Parts: sequence; C-alpha cells; structure tokens
Amino acid sequence: AVQAPGPLDAADYARLELAADGFEQLVRPIELAFERALSDLDPLTGLLNRRAMRVALERERARCRRGGAAASIAIGDIDHFKAINDACGHSAGDRVLQAVAEVFLNGIRPYDSVYRYGGEEFLFCLPATDNATAQAVLDRLRAGLDDVSAQGLAKGGVSASFGVAPIDADASVDEAIERADSALYAAKRAGRNRVVNWRGPVPVAMGAVA
Ligand code: GH3
Ligand code: MG
Ligand code: MG
Repeated sequence: AVQAPGPLDAADYARLELAADGFEQLVRPIELAFERALSDLDPLTGLLNRRAMRVALERERARCRRGGAAASIAIGDIDHFKAINDACGHSAGDRVLQAVAEVFLNGIRPYDSVYRYGGEEFLFCLPATDNATAQAVLDRLRAGLDDVSAQGLAKGGVSASFGVAPIDADASVDEAIERADSALYAAKRAGRNRVVNWRGPVPVAMGAVA
C-alpha cells in the first residue's frame, strides 16, 4: 500500500528548493542554445534562414580576403510559382517549396550550404568553388527538380532559374548578392529553367560621341 507522506520537514523543503534552483541554472544555457538554433531555421522548409545566411556569407568573404580560395554564391528562384499557387492552392504551393528544399538540401555537396532566402527563393554558398564549377553544381540541382515534377504536386511541373556570382575580396556580400540576382534576372529573361553566370561589370562606354 502507498504510504501517506508525513508533514513536510522545513529543512528538506529548503534543500529541495536549492536543488530546483541549481537544475534551472543547468538547463538555462541548453534552453538558450535551442532557442538560438531554432531562430536560424525556416519553419516551412527546415532550411537555414536569412539570419544564418548573413553570418555564413560574411565568414566566407572574410576567408577569401585572407587569401582563401574563391567562393561562389547562387540564387535560385522557382519559375512561375505564383501560377502554381493560383492553379493548385497555397498549401500545394507550400508542399512544392518543401519538396524543392529537400532536393536542394540532399543535392548539395557536404561543404556547401543552402538557405531559404525569400518566399520561393533559395541562396547557395559554395566555398572554394569557381563560377564555372558552381554553374555545373547548380545545373545538377536544377535537373533534380524533375523529381519534384514527377511527384505531381504542380500540374505543369516544377522548374527553377539560377544566377551565379563570385564571392571575392573586392565586392561586399551585398554586392555579391546583387550580382547573383542580376544573373538570375538574365536567366528568367532567357526563358527560365537554366543557370546563368554573372558576366562581370558592364564595361563603361569609352569615347562615346553624343
Ligand atoms: P518567376 O518565374 O518570374 O519567378 O514568376 P513567379 O510567379 O515565381 O514570381 P512572383 O514573384 O510573381 O511570385 C512569387 C509567388 O510566391 C508569390 C507569393 O504569393 C508566393 N509565395 C511566397 N512565399 C510563399 C510561401 O511560403 N508559400 C506559398 N504557397 N507561396 C508563397
Ligand atoms: Mg521570386
Ligand atoms: Mg519565381
């Protein structure tokens, strides 16, 4: 039979309180570490978010400035995603985002990283990778989206366009992102479902006659 507890001894209670305080102090750093890890993640796709991206890109650029190997960044944007939402519904759109994120995450090399950059935009950081190699890596990921099309989540299939740019000592992280974005824009204009490399600064016209 269960013994009814006797009256609580004040000294025992004080010891219990002390132990509880100690436990709370032990657990607090773990709690904080979890909170921090969660605040780096995008809840829909489980990918790292923009916040985490910023830190990683600045670190990568600092490495390049110290003479490390050139790195590449890329932005991928799902083609006609608004039409997928309109035709199949917003929650089908969400499932497409999750499936695309999975293909990207499983397809990158171990030292590469992928972030959810915006709604249907993904940013890739490829350390020690020149732009020609980066283009080949991204093209493999692009082709991998055929698996998402095969899942039948979106009627017309799913594709994405990509822009690639270097991370180098001369340009800031923001400039590198802008360059990748302008290459992405070129990929869209050229007909989508392709990877385009940034072609360097537009040469300034010399000696133009008015
Ligand atoms: P383009 O090929 O030029 O990129 O066309 P697009 O339709 O993909 O581009 P647009 O920027 O016009 O539309 C993006 C759409 O993505 C609009 C927005 O409602 C949708 N979107 C953004 N975030 C989410 C999300 O988390 N879930 C869903 N389902 N849709 C989203
Ligand atoms: Mg977009
Ligand atoms: Mg889009």
